[in-house]
Amino acid sequence: MKYKSTRSTDGILIDSAEAIKNGLAADGGLYMPQFIPTLTEEELESLIECPYAQRAAYIFAKYLTDYSINEVLSDATAAYSEKRFPGGAAPIRDIDGRVTSLELWHGPTCAFKDMALQIMPRLLSRALVKTEEKRTAFILVATSGDTGKAALEGYRDIPQIKIKVFYPIDGVSRVQKLQMQTQLGNNVDVVGIYGNFDDAQSGVKRIFGDADTARELDENGVFLSSANSINWGRLAPQIVYYVSAYCDMVAEGQISLGEKIDVCVPTGNFGNIFAAYLAKKMGLPIGKLICASNQNNVLTDFIQTGTYDRNRAFHTTASPSMDILISSNLERLLYLIAGSEKTAAYMAELAKTGRYTVSKEELAEIQESFAAFYASEEDCFAALKDAYDTHGYLMDTHTAVGYHAACTYAKEAEEKRRILLASTASPYKFASSVLFALTGKNEAGELEALDALSALTGTEIPAPLSHLDEKEVRFPAAIEAEAMKDSVLAFAKA
Ligand SMILES: *Cc1c(COP(=O)(O)O)cnc(C)c1O
Repeated sequence: MKYKSTRSTDGILIDSAEAIKNGLAADGGLYMPQFIPTLTEEELESLIECPYAQRAAYIFAKYLTDYSINEVLSDATAAYSEKRFPGGAAPIRDIDGRVTSLELWHGPTCAFKDMALQIMPRLLSRALVKTEEKRTAFILVATSGDTGKAALEGYRDIPQIKIKVFYPIDGVSRVQKLQMQTQLGNNVDVVGIYGNFDDAQSGVKRIFGDADTARELDENGVFLSSANSINWGRLAPQIVYYVSAYCDMVAEGQISLGEKIDVCVPTGNFGNIFAAYLAKKMGLPIGKLICASNQNNVLTDFIQTGTYDRNRAFHTTASPSMDILISSNLERLLYLIAGSEKTAAYMAELAKTGRYTVSKEELAEIQESFAAFYASEEDCFAALKDAYDTHGYLMDTHTAVGYHAACTYAKEAEEKRRILLASTASPYKFASSVLFALTGKNEAGELEALDALSALTGTEIPAPLSHLDEKEVRFPAAIEAEAMKDSVLAFAKA
């Protein structure tokens, strides 16, 4: 299997190791596999008996053909071990008889980013060997909160790799901020940005595209790589858990083999839901993909009207990891539906005017697979409270945005299929908002909210989130977005 850029018309193809190493293609596009491999019902059936790591290795073998099956199996076994995912890698739980929660937050940072970022550093390590790379890989990350911490945990103290994370200083929760500022490891750096996530992400994209920076880094034996969801190494592991959840739903008798399910994903950068789309394209029996947004509903509008328009107010919400107006991975969907040339044109238009409109035919194809809804803050809190009060299921605010969308869709859908809901964070990661949704009261501080949530629900604070305030703050700094480049160069040379 070879990979090409979503914007390339030159036919250049590279191996997956190189795609994972590079992150972003030189023309600014994202890497995509040359074709989408298939998954038959017989193969699916054979996976039902397998543990998670084996399911993962099986899917990886279709996409990462320059890795041996032993390599991917050994990496998956280490990444998804009981030690790293004490609650299981990606367990499912029935919420209300119609919606099944896919809990993707049992890893070391309590959010779904761990699913990819526990294995991607291992794949990158092997990629450096496979491509005979002698320079240090500099992982440059812009985060809306969860990616940063998950990447720091995944890459810390890995030889021949440095990692630097930029986050919006006032755009993440106190828990998220503390998680990052107290990060351990000798190859890590964390810096806040005065601005929102899009400012951080645009800054990172500019640095990636700057030839002078690349040359200066190269002179110091360093090259840039990304851990954002634009990296193929992030997407491939995310396909796995949809396949795995389907197997578990069959095993638990929620569905029969071959029966279609709908999948609902709380979405920001469009990475997680795009992985579900790839699973559907491979042959996993999925009907609709329900794209759930918060008040930053740029994707809802796009899927409903065909116009993507980022010229709108930015809202800070109780689901901050979805406070995004530029959904980078949407480019991959455009590429599959409209091809490289039009994708490049749409992206150029987006960069110039902040908007673009797809053709009628393209919109029709998108709507065949996708439905879209958004949740206001009240909708989100109401859905969270209803899931807990009525069904005894405790979820975080991001998942609640998804639950609202899933329930809205369920009411109007003609076919009454099971809905698999991607649950993207532990409720404790956003404890004060969760508590507010349940009680209508604001707790004094976010750390106090952890204890209060535990007392109220009789559930335990996950180990990675307890005693955060007793840890040493190693990275308190914040800078203007304009200073990001210098900050990167300084850390590269350090
Ligand atoms: C990152 C994140 C999302 C959004 O995922 P995308 O792949 O960017 O669409 C949703 N919920 C949580 C908790 C996240 O951390």
